Amino acid sequence: MRESSVWQRAFGLAHTVVESVDFDDDAEAVVVSVRSAARAQGRCGRCGRRAPGYDRGEGRRRWRALDLGTTRVFLEADAPRVRCRAHGPTVVRVPWARHDAGHTRDFDDQAAWLAVRTSKTAVTDLLRIGWRTVGSIVARVSADIDLMVDRLEGLRRIGIDEISYKRGHRYLTVVVDHDSGRLVWAAPGRDEATLDQFFDQLGPERTAVLTHVSADMADWIARAVARRAPQALRCADAFHIVRWAVDALDVERRRAWNAARGRQHPGTELRRRRVTGDARALKQARFALWKNPDTLTDRQRHQLDWIAKTDPRLWRAYLLKEGLRYVFAVKGTEGKEALDQWLDWAQRSQLPAFLELRKRLITHREAIDNALDSGLSNALIESTNTKIRLLTRIAYGFHGPQPVIALAMLALGGHPPRLPGRT
Ligand SMILES: [Zn+2]
Repeated sequence: MRESSVWQRAFGLAHTVVESVDFDDDAEAVVVSVRSAARAQGRCGRCGRRAPGYDRGEGRRRWRALDLGTTRVFLEADAPRVRCRAHGPTVVRVPWARHDAGHTRDFDDQAAWLAVRTSKTAVTDLLRIGWRTVGSIVARVSADIDLMVDRLEGLRRIGIDEISYKRGHRYLTVVVDHDSGRLVWAAPGRDEATLDQFFDQLGPERTAVLTHVSADMADWIARAVARRAPQALRCADAFHIVRWAVDALDVERRRAWNAARGRQHPGTELRRRRVTGDARALKQARFALWKNPDTLTDRQRHQLDWIAKTDPRLWRAYLLKEGLRYVFAVKGTEGKEALDQWLDWAQRSQLPAFLELRKRLITHREAIDNALDSGLSNALIESTNTKIRLLTRIAYGFHGPQPVIALAMLALGGHPPRLPGRT
């Protein structure tokens, strides 16, 4: 086998001629000089159509490729421009890299694969690139997949949610398919205009066959859905409702904690002392109060027993929270009956936070009943929602919302990035 063919195979280069391989001492990298095979030459970098030559562009340039052993590798080639009928003067297409990229296609694909499966530092340390670069790569790879798949095909039951992706109130609107569990659409913003973009993309025919739309109870979502998909049943997302109950419980927990602290340290100069006794126990019990009973540790079970004995009011609040969770666990007619009982119970409880929650539930009763009737899996939408939230946190440091969306799509859109060189 000729030496150039060995290199061509080793770097996984198709439609590419290897001219020479050298070591660049300054860059401490292997530099592989290449050119496109004759058949792949003279095509527009954006659309791939043949086009006449225009100029030399910016001359020779380099693309970072996958490492050779422990050493970094660059491909080096001329990057002339062609005059495309559609795109005007454009840098020529090269078989080894995406348009406008500083890395080879294989490098991009490997980086995207790692970004979806490992930690931020694992990707940046292993590949020796910055996190922002990972963001651009992920956006390129996701855009490539978008060209090949129609994510909005076959939607019937969808969930709409808003998710904060950056500190300082930057939000994404996301749409999830209840039947596949996939994330199908996301865009920056959280208002009716943002959601209109989704319905525009979906088109009138595919919008007309939507049967259920679940969401938190935000007015802007309700308005946009009523306007664009009036035939779809609007359902409350159970986990948002249960979270309201957890918040109401927390109001009671803080009240109990403050009361216990007041009992302990009536004097101001004592306030700085370490909180002990009941107040401390209450603080430690907060996870026990928030958690689902079936996942409690023994210790947390004891904490709840202790609350039941010592603070009947907080205990009542806890049972109300659990009661609302039960409503969504049994669903259907049974769930609706349980909700009626819950509303009576909340009224009798005289706990202000739960009286408030009761009013809210009555306001949204129709959407809650729809959710109980629909049989939509709450676990699925909640787990997708949790995963998106985790991803957006990892994506802090990306430049702008597009890489965040791209990472979420690659991880949760059902079309994950592939490792290079595998069939
Ligand atoms: Zn073109």
